[in-house]
Amino acid sequence: MAEAVASAAIPTPAVAPSAPLPVKAVLPWALFVGLLMLVALYFVGAEQGATALFAGEGVHEWVHDGRHLLGFPCH
Ligand SMILES: [Zn+2]
Repeated sequence: MAEAVASAAIPTPAVAPSAPLPVKAVLPWALFVGLLMLVALYFVGAEQGATALFAGEGVHEWVHDGRHLLGFPCH
């Protein structure tokens, strides 16, 4: 009985129904984020040795912990 009184005393805010997002508005952002994720995945997983875009070990050392975290072969 106490619960019914307590819940009746708390006003519930009126929430207007939101319109669904159109696919045409989301698709370019989804492609952009997907491309960024692929670039990040390349640098974490394959930026080393013969597939390296940048000379030296700077990029590899910078993403080294992420490489081990994601289980890519390293050393
Ligand atoms: Zn390593």
